Amino acid sequence: MAKLIDGKLISKQIKDELKVEAAKLKEAGREVTLAVIQVGNDPASTVYVGNKKKACDYIGIRSLAYELPESTTQEELLKLVEELNDRDDVDGILVQLPLPSHIDEDTVIRTISPKKDVDGFHPQSVGALSIGQKGFVSCTPAGIIELLKRSDVDIEGKECVIIGRSNIVGKPMALLMLRENATVTICHSRTKNLKEVAKRADILIVAIGKPEFVTSEYVKEGAVVIDVGIHRCDNGKLCGDVLFSDVEPIASAITPVPGGVGPMTIAMLMHNCIDAPNIRQD
Ligand code: NAP
Repeated sequence: MAKLIDGKLISKQIKDELKVEAAKLKEAGREVTLAVIQVGNDPASTVYVGNKKKACDYIGIRSLAYELPESTTQEELLKLVEELNDRDDVDGILVQLPLPSHIDEDTVIRTISPKKDVDGFHPQSVGALSIGQKGFVSCTPAGIIELLKRSDVDIEGKECVIIGRSNIVGKPMALLMLRENATVTICHSRTKNLKEVAKRADILIVAIGKPEFVTSEYVKEGAVVIDVGIHRCDNGKLCGDVLFSDVEPIASAITPVPGGVGPMTIAMLMHNCIDAPNIRQD
């Protein structure tokens, strides 16, 4: 039976540590502030934004909410981002994605100052990560590194296979695992013999966006399996990209869905906010 990697518990530990940091910064006269911009009222985005605000309140980060109508133009949004870039009392800026189709997400991401890019999506943040320099790291992959380390999974020298090469999960995940001295393979929709390649992994990270796609046929006995996916399955329950009931008996450790990677993303966003004053100093 696999050890369950408990993202709920680990994310709570991280948030409690950050609470102490936030209080120290406050004592030193620095109230960390996150500006969150939502355009339109996509229900999922509203839930995510609400959860981010709750996490800020828990830790002691001041959050500024900008709820803009769906009809907001790109120019109006960029103007707000630039104003927030210039404000000394704002440490982090987050624009909730997806944006309405008349707004170009790339342009918005590039307009956020890399010194306030707490999502870690700006090309400069990604570039800094790839050459080992200081900068914000995308929250989901950073959270997976914390899950592994805090669950005593050795990364150095291990074969790590990542299924998925998105800019927000797969690619930064590969760079982070490389930084931790794993031997890294990235798979995608054109990968040949996916099952054989995945089966090489000591650590298998699945971010494919397809419900319960990865079965035991993809997993080596004793592998650590990290499931990034999150879906509402046919039975109404949440499930991941991994068929948990099939893979759990052969894995040595595995993340559940829900309660695995999911809670780590917000915890690492909060980590980035607390780290923001340091990054701004450079
Ligand atoms: P994405 O942008 O859709 O990327 C999916 C990746 O999987 C792509 O690189 C794609 O390859 C690859 N892929 C698709 N079908 C494949 C196949 N049959 N064989 C091999 N590779 C295949 O997804 P994402 O944004 O990375 O997210 C992945 C999952 O994680 C989603 O379920 C998402 O909801 C979830 N997620 C969760 C969190 C969290 O906080 N827990 C955060 C972010 C994402 P190509 O590049 O060749 O198309």
